[in-house]
This record gives sequence, structure tokens and C-alpha cells, in this order.
Amino acid sequence: MAYDFDLFVIGAGSGGVRAARLAALSGAKVGVAEAYRPGGTCVIRGCVPKKYMVYASEYGRSLEAMKGYGWRVEGATHDHRAFMENLHREIDRLSGIYARNLKNAGAKLFDERAEFVDPHTLKLSPSGQTVTAEKILIAVGGTPSLPEEGEGWEHAITSDDIFLMEDLPEKVVIVGGGYIAVEFAGILSGLGVETCLVYRQKTVLRGFDDDVRTHVHEELKRKGVKVVTNAVPTNIEKTDSGLKLTLSNGEHLECATLMAATGRTPATKQLGLDKAGVETKADGAVKVDEYSRTNVPHIFAVGDVTDRIALTPVAIREGQAFAQTEFMDMDTTFDHELVPHAVFCQPPAGVVGLSEADAREKYRKVDIYKANFRPMKDMLTGDEERVLMKIVVRAEDNVVVGVHIVGPDAAEIIQGVAIAVKMGATKADFDRTCALHPSLAEELVTMREKWKPPELASAS
Ligand code: NDP
Repeated sequence: MAYDFDLFVIGAGSGGVRAARLAALSGAKVGVAEAYRPGGTCVIRGCVPKKYMVYASEYGRSLEAMKGYGWRVEGATHDHRAFMENLHREIDRLSGIYARNLKNAGAKLFDERAEFVDPHTLKLSPSGQTVTAEKILIAVGGTPSLPEEGEGWEHAITSDDIFLMEDLPEKVVIVGGGYIAVEFAGILSGLGVETCLVYRQKTVLRGFDDDVRTHVHEELKRKGVKVVTNAVPTNIEKTDSGLKLTLSNGEHLECATLMAATGRTPATKQLGLDKAGVETKADGAVKVDEYSRTNVPHIFAVGDVTDRIALTPVAIREGQAFAQTEFMDMDTTFDHELVPHAVFCQPPAGVVGLSEADAREKYRKVDIYKANFRPMKDMLTGDEERVLMKIVVRAEDNVVVGVHIVGPDAAEIIQGVAIAVKMGATKADFDRTCALHPSLAEELVTMREKWKPPELASAS
């Protein structure tokens, strides 16, 4: 049977565009449907605008720190509207590049929402047109999810909305303790917004190394964020002046804006997956194998719509592996081990590999190396911010299985370190690497003493 397309991709985000471009460049006839704007979460309402907001807030913080270096900037103010205008100009530019790249590769972009009618047919909206394809790639990403418990969540905004706010609120409450919550707590407080973070656990960033969690948690507080732990909002009411929140611990909070940063869900609800027979998990994530193939052999899924690692570069590599295998005669799978990642809180956290707790569970005997110090730059600014560096080593063969950094440029540093860790570097390899002085990162090659718990350290 002849199909309209060799490949049809649903979603023009990072994963979908990479797959579509490579397939089209290899000679396949490719169609792509995008319901909103090319670029997806990363470009339109995620990594890119978020990082610009981090930069904006860091400039605010450095105004104070500059004094230590003799700079005086009297009467500095932040014009949020001017910043948003520049930010959106850049988002428009990048989104345009995504659309152009698809076109230049020979793929046809439809500004429409696609929904399965049967396993090879998609209906596009609003046009109502149907298209058929031999292979279909689902790359629709995820959407913010709100808690099911508690009343009044319809008054909350999510990270999708924050990039569209022309003016900043005076007071914000952020609910959650994951990536988005801690990143926006840093951003908004740095931009001068009175910020409160409400988290249902004791320490933010569940899943990260315990030292990283504690360090980030303490830095949030030190930067002026009010952190309420072991609590969730049970009731949210609109008042004349904003919102009133009742928390599970009995506390009441008032704010102009409530931001829910309580996780993201795969965006599979309106895809008609049942019409194609594609299986999903309980949270809606599409089930895939190592080749990103669903239970229906000609339908594939990459990126946040699956439940692997929800990061842009991972979606790109999954999309690339799919295109290479299916259209370029190169059998490829993406290795999800040792993917470096960073949380752009302030200071940022960069991680590759296992936390101490996970390494102890997996290998039993591990050696830990830790440094906790004030960065050189702050000796003149008076800022009390501290840097954490931690190396987790598998004792049996001295291989570095985890590196954790919280401090300025942690994301930049960890990208380089990740190469060594991915290559299987040992602690001895780190030790024989000469330090680069003066830098923060030199600490990584100068830690000689194994860390001991305080009770053992004082006994020795
Ligand atoms: P996360 O999963 O990181 O965090 C969600 C947070 O919400 C957790 O702290 C969770 O608590 C809390 N939560 C969940 N449900 C409820 C509830 N019902 N009531 C109260 N709190 C709740 O999700 P994010 O939305 O922050 O980010 C989604 C994903 O996007 C990330 O996991 C990451 O993969 C990606 N991302 C990556 C970034 C980067 O690379 N820098 C930046 C932003 C996002 P608990 O810990 O108890 O489960």
C-alpha cells in the first residue's frame, strides 16, 4: 500500500525535529505536525527561556557583589517588560530556525494537531485533513501536571505561563521541590520577587545526592527564599488582594501568584493512541523498547512522552538513534547511562553518575571525596555562598562512578568531567591530572583524603 509519507512525526520539539531532519536528509518523505510552535518545550517554554531568566536574575544579584570590586551602580532597576521583549525575540528566532531546518531538509511541516484515526492514519486539526504514513514517531513531550489533592488549583499558574507574564508579582508561592521549583525560586527571588517555596518533603531535590540536596536547600534559604517543608496546600482561595493558601501544617500564606511546579505528565491524552493500539503506562507515558519502538512495530516514541530521562539532549539522541536505525541503515540505540544533568538553581548543581546512597546500594564499598569551600570570587564580595564538590568512587577498582558539584559554573564543569567518567576514569586518573589554577574545578583533582563520617574522623 502506498502511504502519503514514509515517516510522520507528531511534535516538532527537540527529539521530533532531529529524527525528522535526519530521515528527510536520508531521502525519506517526511511530514511533521506541530500544534503550537516549532521548538517544543526546550525552546518555547523550557530550557532556553529559563536559562535567560537565570541570567537576568544573576545580573540582579551581582549588583550587590560588584561593590566588593569597587563598582557602584546607583539606582539600578529591572525593566521586566524590556527583558521579556528581548527574550521573546530570541525564542521567535530559534523557533524560526527549527521550522527552516525542517524545510531545508525536505520535511513538510503542518501547523496542526495530529491524532490517530487508525495505526497508519492521522487526522490533522483544525484542517480536518487526514494523512497516512508507513512509520509514525510520537514526540509530543509532556505538560505540567497539577496535584489531584487539595482545592483551588485552578488559581495556580505553571512554568508554561511564567514566560508569558509581562509583569512580575510582588509575592509568589512555588509548590514543589524538583528542578522547576528550585530553579524558579532562584530566578524569581533574584528578580526581586518575595518568594516562598512549599515542599512536601524535608529537603528539596529528591533523587539527588543527599549532600547536594542539603547544599541547594541551604543556599535557597540563604538567598532569601522562605522554604516551608513537610507541607502541601490543601486549599487555595482567591481574595481581593490575591490568593490565600491553607497548608496541611495549618499555616496560611498570602501571595499574588501561586506557581505549581509539581511535575510533568506525558502529553498523550488527546492523541487517540487507543485507535492505533499503542500501549501506555499508568501515567500516560508511551511504552517503548531500546529502539524507541512501541508495541505497534511501525510506531515509535522519543523524548518526554516516554518515561526515560526527561532532558533535551536525551530526546535528541533518542530521535537520532531512531532515524539512524530506521532510515540510515545504522543500527543504533542510545545509552541512557551516565547522562550528565544540571539544575539551574543558584548556585547551580551539576551531576554525572550515582549519588553516594545509590552507589552504596549498588556496590556496597565506596570511597567518598568531598570539598566544601567559599569560591575565591566571593572573598571580596562578602557573599557567604559555598561550593560543594563530591566524588563517589567504587572501592573495588577505584573507578569514579559519580561526581556532584554545587557552585558557580557547575553545569559547565560537569559536562567536561562527564567525558572522563563515561570513559571509565579512576580516581588515580583524576589525581594524575594537573590542576588548573586558580579555578573552582581544580578541586576535583586535588582531593586526596577519603571522607570519613565526623564520628570516625574525630576518633582517628
Ligand atoms: P520534578 O519531578 O523534578 O519535581 C516535581 C516536584 O513536585 C517534586 O518535588 C515532587 O515532590 C512535587 N510534587 C509532585 N506531586 C505533588 C503533589 N501532588 N503535591 C505536592 N508536591 C508534589 O518535576 P519538574 O516539574 O520540576 O520537572 C519535570 C522534569 O523536567 C524534570 O524531572 C526534569 O527531567 C526536566 N527538567 C529539567 C531541567 C534541567 O535540565 N535543568 C529543568 C526543568 C525540568 P516529591 O519529590 O516528593 O516527589
